[in-house]
Amino acid sequence: MFLLHAPQSRLNVIAKSHKVAMKQSPKKEKNFKYIYGPVSSWRLGSSLGVDLLSQDEKVCSLDCVYCQLGNTPVKTKERKVYTPTKKVIEEIKVLPADLRADYITFSGMGEPTLAANLGDTIKEIKALRKEKIAVITNSSLIWDKSVRDDLALADLVMAKLDTWSQKSFEKINRPAEGLWFKDVYGGIKAFKREYNTKLAIQIMFFGMNRDEFKKLAGLAFDIDPDEIEINTPLRPCGVKPLSKKEIAGIKAYFEEFGEKAGSKAGIVSVYDKGRKKVKVISKKGTVKRRGKPH
Ligand code: SF4
Repeated sequence: MFLLHAPQSRLNVIAKSHKVAMKQSPKKEKNFKYIYGPVSSWRLGSSLGVDLLSQDEKVCSLDCVYCQLGNTPVKTKERKVYTPTKKVIEEIKVLPADLRADYITFSGMGEPTLAANLGDTIKEIKALRKEKIAVITNSSLIWDKSVRDDLALADLVMAKLDTWSQKSFEKINRPAEGLWFKDVYGGIKAFKREYNTKLAIQIMFFGMNRDEFKKLAGLAFDIDPDEIEINTPLRPCGVKPLSKKEIAGIKAYFEEFGEKAGSKAGIVSVYDKGRKKVKVISKKGTVKRRGKPH
């Protein structure tokens, strides 16, 4: 979730940054409103996006200082149906026959777990398509059992963890009123305990949390995830990314920590992998939402 409404100048910057990876289908494109991509993802290979929010502006429960699409104009923790499941399924049914994707990924213009029909939509897509389903979540609502139940229907959940206390949560992720770090962290642990769904923890490292990588490693491994993804904001935003060298150092620490802890979690970093070439179904819809998920 990171792929939001942005002014045209912003979209042009994003479009340029995807010039190499994103190639438009030569055929006249259909007007997809809720589905975009596939995009080339460093964690997911090629990923076809489903945006259950699809509002003109970003709708999110957080307002992260590194969000690549600016401030959150609508900050909420209320779950509701933004886009009827039926409308999304209509688009799924008319996808090009030659479309190939490794994952169908719930992301888009804000936080996908805000959509109360997340679980229903996952079930309906699974009945129609063979691709694996991923949800990229900012974890802010995972303390809610109904959110965990919905997430469990996916094959892969990628959950954000950038902070280590209420104070750092408020400073870095700037949550909607009434969201608490202890509930978020406890919710991620509960999800891991309750379900077998593959869980990846994604940590965005930058200036404000670079010195806390040891603390974040302890918290991340204590969840016992299947994977830990070490990220840094590489697209234009209000903060600078960490260098390859610094991220490599953090990754090495995580690997050592994991080995000592007897963890089986794979450790990957945003600098590790090349990008897949993709052929998008809707360039406009993709550019509008394309950014870096949590
Ligand atoms: S959770 Fe994602 S979309 Fe929401 S503000 Fe943070 S980075 Fe942006």
